[in-house]
Amino acid sequence: MTLEKLSLQTPLIDIKGVGPKFVERLKNLNIDTVKDLLWHFPFRYEDFSNISKIKDLKTGERATVNGVVKDVKMRRTWKKRMILLEAVVADETGTVKAIWFNQKFLITILKKGTTINLAGKVQEDKKGSMFSHPMFEILSKKTIERLKEGDIEEIISDLDYFKHTGRLVPIYPETARLTSKAIRYLIKGVFDNVEKIAETLPDEILKKRGFLEINDALKKIHFPDSLEEAKDAKKRFSFEDLFYLQMSNIRQKKKLAKQKAYVFAFDEKYAESLINRLPFELTGSQKKAIFEVLRDFEKGHPMNRLLQGDVGSGKTIVAIIAALIVARGNKPFDYAQGEQSAFMAPTEVLARQHYQTFKKFFTKFEKGVCLLTSSEAKIFYGDDMEVVLKKPELIKKISFGEIKIIIGTHSLIQKSVDFKDLAFVVIDEQHRFGVDQRAELVSRKFSGENKILPHFLSMSATPIPRTLSVTIFGDLELSIIDELPKNRKPIITKVVAPENRNKVYAFVRGQVKKGRQIFVVCPRIEIPQDEELEKKVVYKSMFSSWEDTRAVKDEYEKLSKKIFPDLNVDMLHGKMKAKEKAEAMKKFKDKKTDILVSTSVIEVGVDIPNATIMMIEGADKFGLAQLYQFRGRVGRGEHQSFCLLFTDSAAKTTYSRLESLVNAKSGFELAEMDLALRGPGQFLGQSQTGIPDLAMKAAQNPEMVKEARESAEEILNSDPELNNYLFLKNHLEQFEKDVHLE
Ligand code: ADP
Ligand code: MG
Repeated sequence: MTLEKLSLQTPLIDIKGVGPKFVERLKNLNIDTVKDLLWHFPFRYEDFSNISKIKDLKTGERATVNGVVKDVKMRRTWKKRMILLEAVVADETGTVKAIWFNQKFLITILKKGTTINLAGKVQEDKKGSMFSHPMFEILSKKTIERLKEGDIEEIISDLDYFKHTGRLVPIYPETARLTSKAIRYLIKGVFDNVEKIAETLPDEILKKRGFLEINDALKKIHFPDSLEEAKDAKKRFSFEDLFYLQMSNIRQKKKLAKQKAYVFAFDEKYAESLINRLPFELTGSQKKAIFEVLRDFEKGHPMNRLLQGDVGSGKTIVAIIAALIVARGNKPFDYAQGEQSAFMAPTEVLARQHYQTFKKFFTKFEKGVCLLTSSEAKIFYGDDMEVVLKKPELIKKISFGEIKIIIGTHSLIQKSVDFKDLAFVVIDEQHRFGVDQRAELVSRKFSGENKILPHFLSMSATPIPRTLSVTIFGDLELSIIDELPKNRKPIITKVVAPENRNKVYAFVRGQVKKGRQIFVVCPRIEIPQDEELEKKVVYKSMFSSWEDTRAVKDEYEKLSKKIFPDLNVDMLHGKMKAKEKAEAMKKFKDKKTDILVSTSVIEVGVDIPNATIMMIEGADKFGLAQLYQFRGRVGRGEHQSFCLLFTDSAAKTTYSRLESLVNAKSGFELAEMDLALRGPGQFLGQSQTGIPDLAMKAAQNPEMVKEARESAEEILNSDPELNNYLFLKNHLEQFEKDVHLE
């Protein structure tokens, strides 16, 4: 490594001694610079601090021994498939065996006579104590010399002597051919050579909350002497991320509150008259959500609201009523009055569905509602008056303000589309869009010179626990629909024991005979190839192995050839071309397919009322919230529906986790459980939001969220422009760029 001090911005590739292959692998973990590396935090620690003589090793305990390699052998295992490396290590009290599978290269490293430390969980075989895949550390000359002078206990916590054994050892998210050991080695080297890092939290916060200073905290999160230390360090960084997130949210909110938006007077009678035209009674929470939106419309500042509700809870109608109010405008008797609304849906199918819903319920709407997707352009003027036209013509009409409600896909954010007076933007299944795409519709198309921003409503069927949405979407107002329309039949949900699989197949056959259709969901497409694994971040020992996980292609083969050769079985997965996917979906919708085997790609919002069974293979591989979503795809019609969960895991905890799906009353309840069990990543897709891992995890700690919010408020209230906190201001701007929130 170089002798010059490294800065946080130094790319790792510029460091002498760090090879390009290594850098390439680090990239798979999104690590490019010194900063990225130092902020690659361990997700757990292995405690190897118990130093033992070999004769004192106790089976089941974790320990480190220091000794000399006496013998090394390599052989193939009886199945001839794996290479087994066996080493015997001795100290003055005895010998211990260590084995490794498929680590051929070790033979060149663990030579006879080498002094090493071994660390791991002590096991035993017929001949005595042994380690399987222990951590090992070859002692440097310096260390061996030093050991001659005194006992190992005196130097074991000194990182200059030991990094991988004899202490608390950090375990990092890894990727193929990049182990925690290598990461640890690099972090230690970089840490020793990096310049002093400037503090990123204001002094007053450090003092008030008793947090560690940043350099100290970095050292302690990577190389703690005790778990206490590691915890303190982690707390500081979690708080920091949450604090910046809150700063960003609050500032965003304040900024928006200064902007102008269209004002629509709240006319309760009119709203009611619209609601009364519907053929069904709205649920209480639908009414409440409409009310909340209409109240925001009165304020003169842009609404920024997230509408959450289960699949089928009726979110669309909330948005439609609001759009009708916007289209009517404030001078109801002037036909030319009223402003525009845009609905953006993630797929053509969903956009078309919205358009049709609109046509169905508001047959008298004369001000023009249109559908604009890459394949369709048409306008509905009420009373069955529908015009199909060329896209440029439709786009022109939109720009003249001739159409008040514009429904579509990404097509709405093409450069050529301009609105005349866009007052209200609705984004359906908001998590399906990139942040940029959402921002595009809200900001670029605002109404000309007036600088009037549209009101913004995003809709999501992913129930996000409240603690989490307050953290992440702290700048949004929330409306929640937590009940389903009354006419829905509950879906019968069961965890199926493996021995009952054939009974289920018989039941499936019976349902198909009655004309029903079946979804089969599998956790993955096929056995992953090596290259793919390489791109994956691996949290060692956090997840069960993928080796025996059911794959769409295999399951499709099995069902179509062996189990149901006489039925129409089809498959759907993310690697198929868009056209093939649409075709598979259409065939299923048209009832040409009886059984559709798929990954989790089936469109969230798609309505197939004739599907009555949702079979989920490898159910333990999915989060509860996700399982809940799958289940929501059946039970949409008049027939009794079923959700059948299969798992190959015999673990009791798996069963009880799946049972909670059987018992849960709402998606929110499950989301809370999921948050507690598996952490928040899955609700939001970290990579999309860019929200720091720690902040996501910390969101599980509402107390800390509250403290971070308090601190952020204190500072912004005393100094809204952050003139006395220039460093903080710069850092915040950088954070916002990185995190990329709206
Ligand atoms: P989602 O919230 O998943 O977007 P939708 O808005 O697509 O749900 O609504 C699902 C279905 O339920 C639609 O056919 C819609 O017309 C219908 N629906 C909405 N609200 C009610 C209600 N209060 N009572 C009965 N049916 C309703
Ligand atoms: Mg929907």
